[in-house]
Amino acid sequence: MALQPLMNTYKRLSVSFERGEGCWLYDTDGNKYLDTLSGIAVCGLGHSHPAVTHAICEQAGKLIHTSNLYSIPLQEQLASRLSSISGMDKVFFSNSGAEANEAAIKIARKFGHNKGIDKPAIIVMEGSFHGRTMATLSATGNRAVQAGFEPLVSGFVRAAYNNIDAIRAIAANNKDVVAILVEPILGEGGVVIPADDYLAQLREICDDNDWLLMLDEVQTGNGRTGRYFAYQHTHIIPDVVTTAKGLGNGFPIGACIAKGRAANTFVPGSHGSTFGGTPLACAVGLAVTDTIMNDNLCDRAATLGQRILSSFEEQLGNMEYVKDIRGKGLMIGIELSEAGPELAVLAKVKGILLNITGGGHVIRLLPPLIMTDIEADLMVNTLSKLIKIYAADERSKPRN
Ligand SMILES: *Cc1c(COP(=O)(O)O)cnc(C)c1O
Repeated sequence: MALQPLMNTYKRLSVSFERGEGCWLYDTDGNKYLDTLSGIAVCGLGHSHPAVTHAICEQAGKLIHTSNLYSIPLQEQLASRLSSISGMDKVFFSNSGAEANEAAIKIARKFGHNKGIDKPAIIVMEGSFHGRTMATLSATGNRAVQAGFEPLVSGFVRAAYNNIDAIRAIAANNKDVVAILVEPILGEGGVVIPADDYLAQLREICDDNDWLLMLDEVQTGNGRTGRYFAYQHTHIIPDVVTTAKGLGNGFPIGACIAKGRAANTFVPGSHGSTFGGTPLACAVGLAVTDTIMNDNLCDRAATLGQRILSSFEEQLGNMEYVKDIRGKGLMIGIELSEAGPELAVLAKVKGILLNITGGGHVIRLLPPLIMTDIEADLMVNTLSKLIKIYAADERSKPRN
């Protein structure tokens, strides 16, 4: 075996896990860690959830894959479930978030061509993240994701996030725009929460201009923010919503959900996927959505999120090093006044797994929706102590 057989795509912490249960992961040396990242908003039901394990084992023993050339009842069931949860009409299943967004981008372009726009453009936001495929990295508002991969896919117009005037300015000048693609909360961008009426205002502009409003809920979906989808904190309904991460609790599945005209844009041959929506993936998706709904995990995420935010506020609120503490449901960001990328390593030593994003400035917590109050308190107390010690140490270091 080569010394390093993997392509150099991730900076990895030196720990590997053997098993997981609930909010806990156990490494190969038998140490246990509180998982406050959930595999980046994936394992909302925690690790080894019995409903997920059961669905995988039972369906794998019956039928894993046929083909989208045949009807797949489990796919139709999950599509109906997601349509009724979202208040939308139709679903295309993919295997990842990026692919769900690719489907959305193709819907927008087809929608544009159908109304005679030859070079349809989609408005995307600065600081956004939509994936690593060519179209989705071109849509992403982060140069680091794009650099070295030019030429980018054209047809994206960029606007500042949470800035309605910027959208209005584009509307006044650009007749090729057909859609807006936006995250309800920036995830990779550092848990940035826009104004309460942001989505409603975007909806209005889309209606006025005959554009599609497309929400990337790959990270914010599936109960994460305290509603099944983050837009359900508002009264609007988008034309397209994409999701993935938490939908399979670790089993790869993504979905592009659409309403009205957007739902009827594709015809046979427009789009497809060999693996998208296999019986196995959909059985898992059904088990996950069932559990989230039946166990009221959206409400749980909202309540626990409040508890975590106010405890952090209490413990860290007056620190100079902590610039902001924010969140919605169990999507929580602690913004630091100076980058502290080492905190992820230090937290791991203390038995806590977390992620730092937003250019090293934002500690991002995405704990499982099933986390108990006791586990949440342990997370808050351990991290608060760690951040205080870290800030004091950093301050006492000589500066050059
Ligand atoms: C993670 C993420 C994606 C990409 O999903 P993949 O499954 O990694 O392709 C897209 N959009 C958002 C908002 C994400 O958080």
